[in-house]
Amino acid sequence: MEKCIYNGKTLYAYEVLQNFEFEKVIRKCPTLICCDCGASVFFRHGKQRTECFVHKHKEECRYGDYCRKQSEIFKHAQRELTVHLQRIAEQHNYQLEEDVMIIPAHYTAFVLRSVSVSYAIDIIDSAATTATLEKHKNMYLQKGYQYLQITVDKNAEHESFSERTMAYLPVKFALNESLNHTALVIDKEYRTWSIYILDKTNISTEYELMPYVLYNDTFAMSISLDDLNINNLGFYTASSNDAYNSFCQTRKQAYVEWTHEQEKILKQTQIEMENEHKRAEQQRLEKERITVEIRVQRQQAEATKKKAEEEAKEQRQLKEIQKFAQIHTETGGYIGAKVKGEYQIFTLEEIASEFPKTCISKKYSITDFKERIKKMQEYRYTETKILFTKMCYISSEEKEILLEIYNELKESHSDIVNDIEYLMKNAGIV
Ligand SMILES: [Zn+2]
Repeated sequence: MEKCIYNGKTLYAYEVLQNFEFEKVIRKCPTLICCDCGASVFFRHGKQRTECFVHKHKEECRYGDYCRKQSEIFKHAQRELTVHLQRIAEQHNYQLEEDVMIIPAHYTAFVLRSVSVSYAIDIIDSAATTATLEKHKNMYLQKGYQYLQITVDKNAEHESFSERTMAYLPVKFALNESLNHTALVIDKEYRTWSIYILDKTNISTEYELMPYVLYNDTFAMSISLDDLNINNLGFYTASSNDAYNSFCQTRKQAYVEWTHEQEKILKQTQIEMENEHKRAEQQRLEKERITVEIRVQRQQAEATKKKAEEEAKEQRQLKEIQKFAQIHTETGGYIGAKVKGEYQIFTLEEIASEFPKTCISKKYSITDFKERIKKMQEYRYTETKILFTKMCYISSEEKEILLEIYNELKESHSDIVNDIEYLMKNAGIV
């Protein structure tokens, strides 16, 4: 046990060693009592053991249990800190007490009290759970204490790291929940001291893309407890404060540069995307233009081909008509179908002597007659035969029309007029 009651006052084990004569008195003193259960205790100090008080008989005692369960590193940290907290207490007119029960069923390692502020300082090792840390913090706050933590870490950090990658919960808790985002840490193996301070500024959701100087948001450095001090926010050392301020400044500058760089990249990307969009649009328009061009070319080619075909057809027809005219001039005949490569030739008498086999029911207008007569002028046997058939079955109305045409032809001295007259005679019209 770290303390006992001696002559009605609290006596700490480390105080005993300060004076040899006093140590002799305390070693023999039969009236030392436990500050919790009131049972008799004695002072013990050997080569292997740190000085402490021990119950004379086995007692059921909360304070005894608490001291017995403390780890070596815990005891070491408490003993080492005592000297420095005494110095700080004297400097700021605080009262220092150790192992005080200010919240139920829990001994607080150190309490620093002044008129204006009280600090409750716990030594935390891996036994602490989130629930315990939260509970204790809230209870301390309710009772008007500022809560500070000394944390035992397996491998204490000496260089900046990322709070997100810190796997050890008590450190994370101190970094996030303490007033100045500070963790005071002792290395479990080497027993060196470090201070960690979380820089809460420049927190970005894109932290994984950030350079290390921004990604590592927790400042860490080795400290000497000789420099340790306390202000209204908690633990600090003058050198750690300077280094931390410089750390923050560097990060701030890096953040400005990084965001500037990100903006540039974003702007560049936007420009590239716009250019790409323009290029794609141009390609699309060009493709469309080519498609239209090809379509127009194809249509033009088709039109040219069609025109050439029509011209060729017209030529063929014209040649045929000329051929018919020539044959008619030479023979006076009308042309029928081609048989064995030769045109059949019928005289007008042959056409007019044939008794028509077809009945033409269509009623002929003036246009129909003129059309027939025009085609007949091409000396076609079929056309002449159809006209003759119509004449054989002509109505009185049609007859009048035909006669009118016939008179017009006569006046115009057309070559066809004799042929028409011949057919009309044979059909019995005139
Ligand atoms: Zn006791």
